[in-house]
Amino acid sequence: MEMEFKPLYGETQKRPFIIAGPCSAESEEQILETAHALSKQDVDLFRAGIWKPRTRPNSFEGVGVIGLKWLKKVKEETGLKTTTEVAKANHVYEALKYGIDAVWIGARTTVNPFAVQEIADALEGIDIPVLIKNPINPDLNLWIGAIERVYKAGIRRIAVIHRGFSAYGETKFRNIPRWQIPIELKWRYPDLTVICDNSHICGRRDILSEVAQESLDLNFDGLMTEIHPNPDKAWSDAKQQITPDAFRDLVAGLKFRKVRTDDVAIIANLNGMRERIDHIDSELLQLLGQRMEVVQEIGTYKKDNDISILQPTRWDEIVNRAVERGAQSGLSREFINIYLKAVHQESINHQDKIMNT
Ligand code: PEP
Ligand code: MN
Repeated sequence: MEMEFKPLYGETQKRPFIIAGPCSAESEEQILETAHALSKQDVDLFRAGIWKPRTRPNSFEGVGVIGLKWLKKVKEETGLKTTTEVAKANHVYEALKYGIDAVWIGARTTVNPFAVQEIADALEGIDIPVLIKNPINPDLNLWIGAIERVYKAGIRRIAVIHRGFSAYGETKFRNIPRWQIPIELKWRYPDLTVICDNSHICGRRDILSEVAQESLDLNFDGLMTEIHPNPDKAWSDAKQQITPDAFRDLVAGLKFRKVRTDDVAIIANLNGMRERIDHIDSELLQLLGQRMEVVQEIGTYKKDNDISILQPTRWDEIVNRAVERGAQSGLSREFINIYLKAVHQESINHQDKIMNT
């Protein structure tokens, strides 16, 4: 579906667009204290969850409607625009009643087309920015589907929030970034505002700035970060929240790189480097083609001598050696594994063809 988006606020939306505030509204004091501190910084939208989707019951599930009154007060006292998460039609009606400036659809809601449609229907005819988080599973079409549902309700000020994808087991991130997914989305819809929720990607404080920087380097349009006056005491997501002061330092430390440049010398240098990459890529492909030729030779040889295709010990040897050599060239074990798997599959396909002829 063809879609054209508008910037969230104003024709020339400033970059980066910053959304900050606590994971959850806990009390009027906590909300106002955070908002007053953030109003002295470059913040475009103040966030606070009042209906919290929690993994297990008996966790804090949000203060509900009373939090909307606190957010209204934030706006009156600080001038900050406000946003909260909506997961059903009634949340939308309540949020609008209290003058919320933007709503966001959470990752657990984006996965569910019924819920997204219900929200979209409730938003029909309302001109309010809608921020759509990625679904917890890495499914780009599901994410696009949610955008389309909201778009069909007449909303044009849409942004997406990349909050990473759910993982099982121990990983560096709470939610794995899989950057290629939001990059693909931005590539398909260049005028779509793409924001990085570094808090939910990281799940911890020490790598928040690293991930924020990476998102800016990838040409993201902004950040959503969870801020709490006393993070260790937060009622939800305590490990990932930071104080307003820490957030100021984080933003101050970010490097905003120019996306495009008109400087001809820089363009010429860049083009030179790109040509080198293109050249290396074409050599790599040629080499891979040659590899497949040898693979076919082996296939024919195996067929003539009646040996099976798969030789597990030989394969283990190849993997171990490649991981070791790859490490010497600065290539990660993860990359080598993916690369070898793809090469291996292609080789088997080539040999299969021979076996079946
Ligand atoms: C949140 O923003 O606090 C939240 C619940 O996020 P997500 O939907 O990304 O898990
Ligand atoms: Mn949170």
